[in-house]
Amino acid sequence: MSLRVLLAAPECFPYVKVGGLGDVLGALPQALRGLGVDARVLLPGLDAVLNGLGPGTCLRTWPDLLGGGEARLLRAQDGAGLTFYLLDQPAFFRGLTGPYEDGPDLPRRFAALAWAAAAVAREGDGGGWHPDALHAHDWTVGLAPAYLAFAPGPRVPSLMTIHNLAFQGRFDPALRAELWLPPEAYALEGAEFHGTLSFLKAGLHYATRLSTVSPTYAREIQAPGGGFGLEGLLAWRGHDLTGILNGVDRALWNPATDPHLATRYEASSLPSRATNKTALQAELGLAPEPGATLLGVVSRLDPHKGLDLLLACLDGWVASGGQLALLGSGDSGLEAGFRDAAARHPGRVGMGQGYNEGLAHRIFAGADLVAVPSRMEPCGLTQLYALRYGAVPVVRRTGGLADTVVDATPEALDAGTATGFGFDAPEPWALEQALCRAQALFADVESWAALQRTGMAQDFGWEASAKQYAALYRKLIS
Ligand code: ADP
Repeated sequence: MSLRVLLAAPECFPYVKVGGLGDVLGALPQALRGLGVDARVLLPGLDAVLNGLGPGTCLRTWPDLLGGGEARLLRAQDGAGLTFYLLDQPAFFRGLTGPYEDGPDLPRRFAALAWAAAAVAREGDGGGWHPDALHAHDWTVGLAPAYLAFAPGPRVPSLMTIHNLAFQGRFDPALRAELWLPPEAYALEGAEFHGTLSFLKAGLHYATRLSTVSPTYAREIQAPGGGFGLEGLLAWRGHDLTGILNGVDRALWNPATDPHLATRYEASSLPSRATNKTALQAELGLAPEPGATLLGVVSRLDPHKGLDLLLACLDGWVASGGQLALLGSGDSGLEAGFRDAAARHPGRVGMGQGYNEGLAHRIFAGADLVAVPSRMEPCGLTQLYALRYGAVPVVRRTGGLADTVVDATPEALDAGTATGFGFDAPEPWALEQALCRAQALFADVESWAALQRTGMAQDFGWEASAKQYAALYRKLIS
């Protein structure tokens, strides 16, 4: 294996997953290995990660990392032979409900993870492995490129991937010394951001190259108003910034083999998908109507996901004979809004709560449509899962949603390229219009099946994206 890369992140499916970042880390390293890249993953030693990956072998220790006491670098392997490094530092990582759980240690917790990433990148894992480059994912490990920049000796190249610019990790600058950053790091040309110390900005400033998870999002975040205040820096670094779409883990997300489903199916056996719709209706207390247009949603309930738009037009959707199967948790106002809607519309609006991997799969397999009305969406995975499962996506044309769904215009339908429905304005009426168009086409059984089949034939596997990452790594080290 020629190229050695350390990927550092706070999430990785199946050990710990909060959103799409977990899916990416669960699939990209294997796809890279398939291309001959020796990709290894550094994760925080959360209980779930330590339990999932076994005790591992201790290769390095730090007596007091970032003031959080002793930290050990453990090496472990998963069943497929992928190597993981776990930062086992009980004071920071044990007993948490999830990696991002708030608390006074939060900045030092992730500074420790970033420090360990930079240390392995510079000095190796202590067991003879020396990476050629570091690939840091999102703000939690944003300080890693900064630590590399301030370390003595030749700088190890780094790639910083933005999965979501909305999360930046901004903290009190008085913490700078405790975070083991030199005074010069807190500067306009450094980690300073409007009077705070920003982990993400540190990564964006100090990393050798930057990437984000779709070409459209890469453009949007450089445009005025599109970069959460970081658009100037991103435009300045525009020549180093690439957009690479996320992919689908075809083994995990495959309706022909999915163990979570009532009935497995593929494009050639689409009619048997109906069993999954009936089962989903039963699971969520929806009326068992095969002809009702069943709209699915699997999402964090976060204002950026635009689900307030759906809430605003939900009564109309139900009045037109539609049903909703929603799985999500997060924002308490949105949760309460959908709970109220479910109470108002028994048998028409069903809701699953909390994190439920199996139900997520069953929604993609049973719903006729999947709504992703995001105000912003760096890539989005649920529309890709929907396509693969023959649920037709209804998306707002932003970020990766714009890059992956072809609107069912008459021309695209004639050409056989349509895969879903898009809308532009982040307004309830625009979503409502798209839903109306979808419902009209749903009534045309043959056209609908053709739309489903075109969606299912789309190839959003990881291979193409992994090739682009491998090419970027090569640029980094050349
Ligand atoms: P984001 O990363 O912004 O949350 P993505 O669309 O990129 O959005 O990824 C979301 C991932 O999280 C998908 O794998 C989706 O199926 C999953 N997901 C979201 N909410 C839930 C939930 N409540 N239960 C199970 N999976 C969920």
